[in-house]
Amino acid sequence: MSTTRTVALSVLASGLLALATPLNAQSVEQDPGNGQPTEPVMIVNGEVFPTWASYTGSELFQSDGLRCQKPSRDFGSFIPPLAAATAGDCGYFSTNPTSEYAPSFVYNIPVVVHVIQRTSGTGFISASKVQSQIDILNEDFRAMAGTPGAPGTDAMIQFHLATEDPSGNPTNGITYSSNNTWYNDGGSYWNSLAWDTNRYMNVYTNSASGALGYVPDLPQGGIVGQASDRVVVLWSAFGDNAPIGPPFDKGRTLTHEVGHYLGLEHTFSGGCGSASACYSTGDLICDTPREQNPTSGCPGNKTSCSSSDPIHNYMDYSDDTCMWEFSPEQVRRMRCTLQFFRSDLDDPVVGTWDDLGGGTVGSNGTPTISGTGDLTSGSPVTVALTNAPGGAAMLAWIAFSSVPVSALGGTLYATPYTTQLIFLANGAGAFQANTNWPVGLPPATEVWFQFLVQDPSVTDGLTLSNGLKATTP
Ligand SMILES: [Zn+2]
Repeated sequence: MSTTRTVALSVLASGLLALATPLNAQSVEQDPGNGQPTEPVMIVNGEVFPTWASYTGSELFQSDGLRCQKPSRDFGSFIPPLAAATAGDCGYFSTNPTSEYAPSFVYNIPVVVHVIQRTSGTGFISASKVQSQIDILNEDFRAMAGTPGAPGTDAMIQFHLATEDPSGNPTNGITYSSNNTWYNDGGSYWNSLAWDTNRYMNVYTNSASGALGYVPDLPQGGIVGQASDRVVVLWSAFGDNAPIGPPFDKGRTLTHEVGHYLGLEHTFSGGCGSASACYSTGDLICDTPREQNPTSGCPGNKTSCSSSDPIHNYMDYSDDTCMWEFSPEQVRRMRCTLQFFRSDLDDPVVGTWDDLGGGTVGSNGTPTISGTGDLTSGSPVTVALTNAPGGAAMLAWIAFSSVPVSALGGTLYATPYTTQLIFLANGAGAFQANTNWPVGLPPATEVWFQFLVQDPSVTDGLTLSNGLKATTP
């Protein structure tokens, strides 16, 4: 472990050095009245850019790789891959994307966004703009149908603004600071602002040292838990319809940086690498075609390393509207990274099961149903019934909206019912259904369950179970 630690720290140190030395960038004020710059928007190494477009279209932006300033790996300190089914499956220098890392359950990642402004107010981002960026992350990481991220791979990784701060107090997951040094990405602001980096993804918006965004290192480098563990995004490239304008105004800068935050390299990292050793050279991934250089714009066709380049991959440098996928192996590397390097980050958001009562008394008392399990896509859930007559036939009613009505001396909640299923209780008058919670239900979806049980002991021969309401997180 001591060897790993030393390597990690040296990589981190070289990464920070790389950030500190090459650029002296300032993002300067804009006229808040009409959004048009009255002064240059950015000054990098003395070069003045009057507009965001002149900055992102400049030779300096292109040649210095300012789309993302994540430092390169230190190839001088190679650590051999470890045995299978360990952290070595997504190590700093190799990937082993076995099927155990295929998406099978949802990770829920709490996010805190630290908005750092100039004292003049430049750099302000509204709460709704922040939420629009979280929405884009979910569209991209969940490959949500009907969104620009739909063509990608569903990583089953979700993000939400934190609802509790580290002290357990309610929060909207956004902090605001006014500090000109911090705005210029100086002053080690994370020592003052960071929330426990084991438990929260800390995102900062400021002038990002002249880049669109960066992370200091991959989590495999040992940064997790340190205050400096962070994602930094240029404030004007944050959120949907970001002020920087096309081609970087669709929120894909954060999607790309979160890819790094979860252990991914650039698709062009290390150039072509070796076709026969694609899990330990290049971007450490085999199902992303090897790529010599970053892509700019959105070329119809770009070829290097004898194959078409992965220009639509989030981990390239293409325009925001040109990138729309993580590959399946990138997803496995990210999920492996969550398991072994950011294991405290998952914030189980399980939803709620509410017992609504309203059942009627029969020969065995009130038939009672209860629900257990995590109400997120693909998670195992159980609905169980007790207190029915032995071997009783019953209808299970499932509804996605409910207008409760009086029926059979109780309350019928599961109306209008969407689904009816017929089951038999066992000899003890119990029944249990195990299933996986459906994929694709939006947050705060309510689902009602109720049983109508055959019970000869009562008039009408039927009793109602209690109503049960499940609400997705
Ligand atoms: Zn990058």
